[in-house]
Amino acid sequence: MDCVFCKIINGEIPSYKVYEDDIVVAFLDINPFSTGHTLIVPKVHTLDLETIDDETLNHIMMVARKIAKDITRKLDAPGYTLIQNNGFVEEVKHFHLHVIPKYKKDKKMDIKDVYEKITQSE
Ligand code: AMP
Repeated sequence: MDCVFCKIINGEIPSYKVYEDDIVVAFLDINPFSTGHTLIVPKVHTLDLETIDDETLNHIMMVARKIAKDITRKLDAPGYTLIQNNGFVEEVKHFHLHVIPKYKKDKKMDIKDVYEKITQSE
């Protein structure tokens, strides 16, 4: 299947992976809306909100809560937004939840530095 997120999950193309478990992978968005913009994707290829199973969807929301808390603390973001696109506005046709940190003043950081800051040990 020619799916960029499946290729990331399978390790065929590189990503800045910030979280992984049996059900999902989370990695930094390559074209971020803000510093720390992260995507959470199910490991099983699933198109969208209508086709994802309840258990996986619930798990993704719980992971979103954990990741959002972790990332916003490490990047000093005072807020965050979740976005999930479907239909023609879904560019990559593999379910993904965007976790987008929000800053009072625009914060610019190189993606490698963001990755290091998020994944560095406590
Ligand atoms: P959407 O419009 O909700 O489908 O968003 C798809 C997102 O995937 C966009 O924000 C892209 O920047 C992001 N994206 C596409 N390819 C990659 C990639 N190889 N690594 C990380 N993020 C990607």
